Amino acid sequence: MGELRVETLSKTFKDGTQALKGVSLHVEDREAVFLLGPSGAGKTTTLRIIAGLEEVTQGAVWIRGRNVTTWSPRDRNVAMVYDKHSLFPHMAVFENLAYPLRARRLAKNDIRSRIDAVADTLQISELLDRRPSELSGGQMQRVAIGRALVRDADVFLLDEPISHLDAQLRARMRVEFKRLQREFEATMLYVSHDQLEAMTMADRIILINEGRIEQVAAPQTLFDEPETLFAATFVGEPHMNTFPAQLHQEAGNARLLIAGGDVPIDDDWLGRGPDLSAVQDLIAGIRPQQVTLARPDERGAGIIRGVVFAVETLGSRVVFDVEISGGSKQNVVRVLTSVDQARAFPQELNAPIAVRIDPDFVYLFDAADGRTIR
Ligand code: ATP
Repeated sequence: MGELRVETLSKTFKDGTQALKGVSLHVEDREAVFLLGPSGAGKTTTLRIIAGLEEVTQGAVWIRGRNVTTWSPRDRNVAMVYDKHSLFPHMAVFENLAYPLRARRLAKNDIRSRIDAVADTLQISELLDRRPSELSGGQMQRVAIGRALVRDADVFLLDEPISHLDAQLRARMRVEFKRLQREFEATMLYVSHDQLEAMTMADRIILINEGRIEQVAAPQTLFDEPETLFAATFVGEPHMNTFPAQLHQEAGNARLLIAGGDVPIDDDWLGRGPDLSAVQDLIAGIRPQQVTLARPDERGAGIIRGVVFAVETLGSRVVFDVEISGGSKQNVVRVLTSVDQARAFPQELNAPIAVRIDPDFVYLFDAADGRTIR
């Protein structure tokens, strides 16, 4: 058990690549924190620095209140699990699990009882005599996780440990992992580029992009209150719709121009947010589940007309891509709806259709710096 703290970490590789630009983060004792971000964001570099496998250019790593920045990996008492699990192919599962314990000179009986307990939890007791080549991908992964868990490490570092598994197994492992983390009361920093993994398993998510932290929040807060355009568009499936937008204010008649359509707003709406008049360029964002479909002849506030561009059925839900032809640029608005609701609308390509945008569901961002305005 332990607590992890990373302070203003910077990393510049020999070739000049600046992988980290002042990353600070902490993981509380027994907390499961996800480091989420796109490829190349600096996730693995952060993990490797914490494990002691990579030197820092600047900054410090603290584990259980001790500054371990210059300590060897062995002395840090962290356990790391990779996607490419590095089990020893010539050793049986039992020996693979025993290896880190033998390295720590534990008594034989202790080794046996620890392995039995972990194997039982991971449901790999029947596999202890097998070689890694005789295991399925999921079993191999459980053994790799087991090898980390037997160690009683202060901090567990996991680098996309289930990303290569098939979708079904991944779904099962997500649930299993969460249970294990609770059961072992593990302090865990888990790297992933998969928002579903992070949203379902994390106590908190640290969103990282281009070597900087974008936002730190509980999963639902990250979804509901993204602080930047990047956070808003990275989290959520299907992705948030975004369009350049303008605010028009004439005597008693205010509206947002979004995707070539008019979305009327009232004083009440304006009063609830900060003053928008100083912002040069706005970007409007609307989640696909918060746009509704409308019939092409429908009238009313926030209706924007277009044609069906694509329809994708996802079991119980349907995604409509509606092409809006207005303004200077063609735009597609993505709408997520239920199968039942979708039945009331044409699904043939190019059929006239409309969408309704409710200003209460519109996020606004400053195009200049990507910050969320409201
Ligand atoms: P992915 O999800 O693709 O694994 P990541 O978020 O883990 O990405 P990192 O592997 O930490 O990203 O890489 C961050 C940046 O540092 C990238 O631009 C990468 O190319 C660069 N980088 C990583 N290792 C080295 C190295 N040894 N030398 C030079 N550049 C490196």
